[in-house]
Amino acid sequence: CGIIARVGDGSAIDPLLSGLENLEYRGYDSAGVAVQNGSGIDVQKRSGKVSDLKRSIDDVTLEGAVGIGHTRWSTHGPPTDENAHPHTDQVGDVAVVHNGIIENYARLKSRLAAEGHEFTSETDTEVIPHLIQSHIDDGLDTESAFRRAIAELEGSYAVAAMRSGEHVLYAARQGSPLVVGIEDDGYFLASDVPAFLEYTDTVVYLEDGDVVVVDETGIEYTDQDGNPIERERETVEWDP
Ligand code: GLU
Repeated sequence: CGIIARVGDGSAIDPLLSGLENLEYRGYDSAGVAVQNGSGIDVQKRSGKVSDLKRSIDDVTLEGAVGIGHTRWSTHGPPTDENAHPHTDQVGDVAVVHNGIIENYARLKSRLAAEGHEFTSETDTEVIPHLIQSHIDDGLDTESAFRRAIAELEGSYAVAAMRSGEHVLYAARQGSPLVVGIEDDGYFLASDVPAFLEYTDTVVYLEDGDVVVVDETGIEYTDQDGNPIERERETVEWDP
């Protein structure tokens, strides 16, 4: 039910966890984060509260400068650790968080299963990283694979994705909110402004059909076909 993602200087984990806490008001049953580490993507997720997640990652070092986080309000599959987000493809190369419902997930899942993909959750969301991975396997670069996967989704979504070894976030929205937070040394993506308001009040509200590619040096706003679009920066005034 809430997304937070961060790319920038310094470790992503503190802004991700505080973002998840700031999104708690939206209601949720599970929480998780995925952060780049030296050798790949480290996923920590579980059913329960953000404080439970925090406690369970106390002994883990998560130092990556790119990460995604999620609070889940289950629609497909009960609130178990396996069904919590982030979800990855089979080899843990692509990690995804998602709000909303993928209406055509059953069809996508059986197609992917026929291609040999094995699933570990009951969620609609898990088809997204597998779809991206299948397009990477077909030879597409990450951005093209992400766009191709998004184009296949029916339903409502705010999605943020990252790939092992890259300092890049890929995101898209259709029917679920997604807002960009802009700092001097990095970016946030979130379902709502309070997620990152303690770090920045400079925001860009995305619209349905928008796709963004973000690294620490810049952000590219496009439509689903990859054509550049203009989005206005705003300064939010927020009375807590
Ligand atoms: N449909 C997804 C799930 O059940 C996402 C739910 C949400 O928006 O939190 O995992």
